[in-house]
Amino acid sequence: MKAPIPAHVDPCDAADASGRPLPLLEARARILSAVTPVEGAEIVALRAALGRVLYADVHSSIDVPGHANSAMDGFAVAGRDLPTHGEQTFRVLGTAWAGRPYEGPVGPGECVRIMTGAPLPQGCDTVVMQEHVHADDLQATISAGHRAGQHVRAAGEDVRSGAVALRAGILLDPAELGLLASLGIGEVEVRRRPRVAFLSTGDELVGVGQRLAAGQIYDSNRYTLYGMLVRAGVEALDMGVVRDCRDDIERAFATAAACADAIVTSGGVSVGAADFVATTLERLGEVEFWKVAMKPGKPITFGRIGRALFFGLPGNPVSVMATFYQLVQPALRAMMGVRSQDPPLLLRAICESRLHKKPGRLEFQRGIFERQPSGQYVVRSVDHQGAGVLRSMTEANCFIVLPLDQDAVAPGAEVEIQPFAGLV
Ligand code: AMP
Ligand code: MG
Repeated sequence: MKAPIPAHVDPCDAADASGRPLPLLEARARILSAVTPVEGAEIVALRAALGRVLYADVHSSIDVPGHANSAMDGFAVAGRDLPTHGEQTFRVLGTAWAGRPYEGPVGPGECVRIMTGAPLPQGCDTVVMQEHVHADDLQATISAGHRAGQHVRAAGEDVRSGAVALRAGILLDPAELGLLASLGIGEVEVRRRPRVAFLSTGDELVGVGQRLAAGQIYDSNRYTLYGMLVRAGVEALDMGVVRDCRDDIERAFATAAACADAIVTSGGVSVGAADFVATTLERLGEVEFWKVAMKPGKPITFGRIGRALFFGLPGNPVSVMATFYQLVQPALRAMMGVRSQDPPLLLRAICESRLHKKPGRLEFQRGIFERQPSGQYVVRSVDHQGAGVLRSMTEANCFIVLPLDQDAVAPGAEVEIQPFAGLV
């Protein structure tokens, strides 16, 4: 749906045709409904598949494990041979090692010493832990109290031959690499990575390594964006800095749209005289919305140019990061073909600081959280919450997520936090 931007946009209104800043969840839902996975696949070596998305279901051609084997170091016996009371002495026939099976049958009154991972000898279905057995090289005495079938891993209990081991659309993390390796698979068909063009807009921006003149600043957003895009798992195409000039911006957007699946820009989305991003997007493509009720980051423009999705992020360095993580990253994951995304991880914490806030926007303040010995999480605010203070992101380890209608938070109140770090 195309939403025309009024000629004179009041910063306090209008995000879509209905004229209100979109709640974040609605903005995210509208973005996700506009996204389809990029087309194309490639075959890569197993290790190179880390962080990629599986293109097609993977079926196993083998049972994993391939044979019933011991989960413990101990003695393998037939379960029906176990004593029901008192104890019973078995003759030790030999040893089964992982990778070196004991060949030959095991009969009544007989047992085999067995190591973890060794195949169960013929006639055995039970393992008694070494610690529960009195044994020498010839005999092993086992008391009552063991369960037939215990400490045995069944053939195929991890993955059955013929079964789907991994579904298309799964993000390949370390566990998935290991699982594929356990099936003997050394090459994987993964979806093509989305190509994402990114650029900074701004007359004041200077590249690192250059001298600053009066009024200039270094372009930091392109580095933050690079990091977030690469971490997200896409191919990041650096299109440099574009001046606040209508023609330059139009040219850059057209070039980006011709080669990328998505475009991410920073700056130029406010209502200043030098903010041309939204109007250029409207001219070249379609604007879906341009204002979200979040802070930092209200003026975020979403739309498309041709087949490329367009994310016009604000210029303030913290806004770039907050809007990227809340809105762009889920979209990129969907473009990568990730079928089901984990929900945002939110924890409850006691806030030790006084937080300033006015109702009206969902806020992502920067916080430092800890876990107390009691298990209670506590969080405190970083010392400066300005949207331009990038240091706040380097000092913080979480967002403090404050609901739209919340006002100031008093010390001791419970808040929700979104940690920056994930385990895998
Ligand atoms: P804008 O959204 O273009 O009005 O920019 C908002 C603020 O963010 C201004 O103070 C800009 O100087 C700053 N800013 C914009 N782009 C960048 C950038 N690439 N790196 C660092 N700061 C930026
Ligand atoms: Mg600017």
